[in-house]
Amino acid sequence: MNKLVFFDLDGTLAESKQALTSEMAALVAALLEVTPVAVISGGALPQFKKQIIEQLPAETNLSNLYLLPTSGAALYEYRHDNWHKVYEEHLSQKESHTIEAAMKEAIAATGVIDLDHHAWGGRIEHRGAQVSLSALGQQAPLILKKEWDPTRAKRGKLQTYLAAALPDFTVTIGGKTTIDITKRGIDKAYGVRKLCDYLHIMESEALYVGDELEKGGNDEAVYKTEVQTSVVKDPTETGELIKKLFSPA
Ligand SMILES: [Mg+2]
Repeated sequence: MNKLVFFDLDGTLAESKQALTSEMAALVAALLEVTPVAVISGGALPQFKKQIIEQLPAETNLSNLYLLPTSGAALYEYRHDNWHKVYEEHLSQKESHTIEAAMKEAIAATGVIDLDHHAWGGRIEHRGAQVSLSALGQQAPLILKKEWDPTRAKRGKLQTYLAAALPDFTVTIGGKTTIDITKRGIDKAYGVRKLCDYLHIMESEALYVGDELEKGGNDEAVYKTEVQTSVVKDPTETGELIKKLFSPA
């Protein structure tokens, strides 16, 4: 068993922005009995609570669970019946405004987002350590999100524009319809390194499980670390992988 297991959230532990299934929740709870587990995703902490924490069985060993919201820009641990922040690379108000202004420019310049079309909730969300642009709105239905940019071509245009406009920040393609922007150098690799350091675990002893480890994918940054990696296609494969961790061949 690895000394630490990282999971991406959307497309890996659950469908995009959906809750963990009860089967997945049971598997994660079983894993937490034997090893520390971390979840890293572009979402903010409330989104993690909704998708993961509220789905776990009541007796789950949460003290072994580490949450890395906003792409690793923050780390939370569970102590004394509550979630406590270990660190957060918070953006200043000025930085957040600079990013939002550039996002609006990028939307106008690239034309990839149809502003006349109804948005499901706000398109730009300030998440403390990260500003996120969701093309169809934060609450858009999964089916529409999956159709919007399957090849990442639209997000690629936004990313190219924004990376040039915001050299002091890191611009990442998030799940399905999203662009995530954090302080420069903050990405999933940063989060992986910080938690390994914090727990005094060698990166090579940890495992990272994600659905987008390919080039340009949302999990690709972790290749900058020494962690072992496992690519999964969807949450069903992740479930199979967790079962195998308990009974290695
Ligand atoms: Mg994913």
